[in-house]
Amino acid sequence: MRAMLLDAPGRPLRVAELPRPEPGPGQVVLSVRACGVCRTDLHIADGDLPNPKLPLILGHEIVGTVAALGPGVAGMRVGARVGVPWLGWTCGECSFCGSGRENLCERARFTGCQLDGGYAEFTVADARYLFPLPDGYSDLAAAPLLCAGLVGYRSLVAAGDAVRLGLYGFGAAAHIVAQVARHQGRRVFAFTRPRDDDAQRFARTLGAEWAGGSEAPPPEPLDAAIIFAPVGSLVPTALRAVTRGGTVVCAGIHMSEIPAFPYEILWGERVVRSVANLTRRDGAEFLKLAPSVPVRTTVEPFPLERANEALARLRQGSLRGAAVLALAAP
Ligand SMILES: [Zn+2]
Ligand SMILES: [Zn+2]
Repeated sequence: MRAMLLDAPGRPLRVAELPRPEPGPGQVVLSVRACGVCRTDLHIADGDLPNPKLPLILGHEIVGTVAALGPGVAGMRVGARVGVPWLGWTCGECSFCGSGRENLCERARFTGCQLDGGYAEFTVADARYLFPLPDGYSDLAAAPLLCAGLVGYRSLVAAGDAVRLGLYGFGAAAHIVAQVARHQGRRVFAFTRPRDDDAQRFARTLGAEWAGGSEAPPPEPLDAAIIFAPVGSLVPTALRAVTRGGTVVCAGIHMSEIPAFPYEILWGERVVRSVANLTRRDGAEFLKLAPSVPVRTTVEPFPLERANEALARLRQGSLRGAAVLALAAP
C-alpha cells in the first residue's frame, strides 16, 4: 500500500510502499477513504509531543470502509463505513478508565501517534474504538468531525453553560464548535490572527456575531473562552476577556509557554483548564448531535502524496476550515 511516512521529527513525510496491515484479535483493517489533517499531526511531525512510534503514519481523523475482520470481532461487517478517532486503545483497568475518564488513561495509545494512522491506503484499528458515521456526510465532510469535531465538542462542554463564548483561533475545530454553539443558543465571538480579514469573514458566515484580532478586547465580557491556537500568550488575553466565574479552556495538546500574569485576572473564580483527548462517550454524543444541528464542514481536499503541502498550509494558517487527504474518488 501507499503511505506517507514520518521517519523522524523535523523531516518531511515521504511516500512509501508498505505491506498492507493484517488484523490482530479484535482489530479490523480499513480501506481509508479520507483522513483529516489535524494540528496535532504538525506537533508530532515537529517533535513537540513525547513518544511517537517511529517510523509513523500520521492521521487520526480516518473515514474508511471495513476491508477485513480479525478474530473475535463481532457486530461489524465488511463494507461498513466507520470513523477512527485519536483514542485508539485504553487499558480498561486504571482508575481513570474505571471512572468514565478513559481520555486520561495513562496507558492509552493514540491513532497516528503510538499507532499507525490514516495517511495511507489501509489502516488497522481496534474495533471497540470505531464510530459508525452519520449518513448525509460525504467521506471528506465527515473526516473533520472525528477530531476537530469531537475535541471541539468536549471543549464546549468544558465551557459549561456560558452564553457569551469566545473562540481563539478560527480553524477546523472552531468552525464546527461555532455552529454547535449557535444551535444551543449561545453567542459566538471569534478571535483570529490580527488582520486576518478572510478568517473573520468566515467566522461571521458561521454565526459569530463579532470577529476580530486576538489582541482586541471583545465588545462585551465573555462568559467563557476556548483557545484552539497553540499560543500560550492567549491564556492571559482570554482571562482578561472573561467575566467573573468565567472559564478559559485550552483545547490543544501542545501550547507555547504561558507568560506570567497578575493574580487579579484569575481572581473572581475564573478558571483555566485544559481538555485532553476524548472518550468514546464524547464521540457517540457528538456524532448524534452533528447531523441535528446540522454541522456543515468546510474542507479543502489534498491527494495523499501532497500531505506535506496540507501540513504547510495548516502551519501558515491559510486554510479555510479543514484540510483532508482524499484517498477515494468522491
Ligand atoms: Zn486506563
Ligand atoms: Zn486531532
